[in-house]
Amino acid sequence: MLLLKERKEIVKFGNRMLDAGLTTGSGGNLSCFNRKKQLIAITPSGIAYPLLTPQDILVISFDAEIVEGNGKPSSETGFHISLYKKRKDINSVVHTHSAYATTFACLNREIPAVHYLVGFAGRKVPIAPYATFGSDRLAENINASIGGSNAVLLANHGLVSVGSTLTKAFNTAEEIEFVARLCYQAESIGKPVILSNDEMDRVIQKFEHYGPQEK
Ligand code: 13P
Ligand code: ZN
Repeated sequence: MLLLKERKEIVKFGNRMLDAGLTTGSGGNLSCFNRKKQLIAITPSGIAYPLLTPQDILVISFDAEIVEGNGKPSSETGFHISLYKKRKDINSVVHTHSAYATTFACLNREIPAVHYLVGFAGRKVPIAPYATFGSDRLAENINASIGGSNAVLLANHGLVSVGSTLTKAFNTAEEIEFVARLCYQAESIGKPVILSNDEMDRVIQKFEHYGPQEK
């Protein structure tokens, strides 16, 4: 089976996404890009995560042609591919509908640096203007808004996070949901203090050497 390692990982993290409360039902999607083989493994469209097996994960080309697997790839295949084209530093994309991050997305508001963990994304979490799910316009809006960030909100929709590995992209989605919740809570009882760009740049630099270093 092509990209077996990536397909297994996608099944594992799809279920973790559900367990961590980052999405509901079949909402959201995940993919991994094997740059050596120039192939992408991506979740199928509309299938609940607990039902997925590695075989259900589609392997597609950079032109969105199915190379292996049955069924329909995610309706958001377009933005996954366009992110891999734009960002040479990433090999994984995670899309969630997590409640607090999506609350900001529904307000068409960025998430500011209320807590240093926003550094998983960048100085803040930017927002891409609304477009219908699965549309070319949505892919364009995400591409135009993400810049060098590791996460971007999708107006009235959810969150996309990216990373060099699926673990990193997933962790970013989880941490940004936590920061979104803190921001919501802090604003509900007062006016949160926002960390400066200089401080966030220090945090982002420290994150590069935080935790076990991959070889
Ligand atoms: P898919 O099941 O087609 O991946 O769609 C879920 C989703 O979140 C659309 O934005
Ligand atoms: Zn979605």
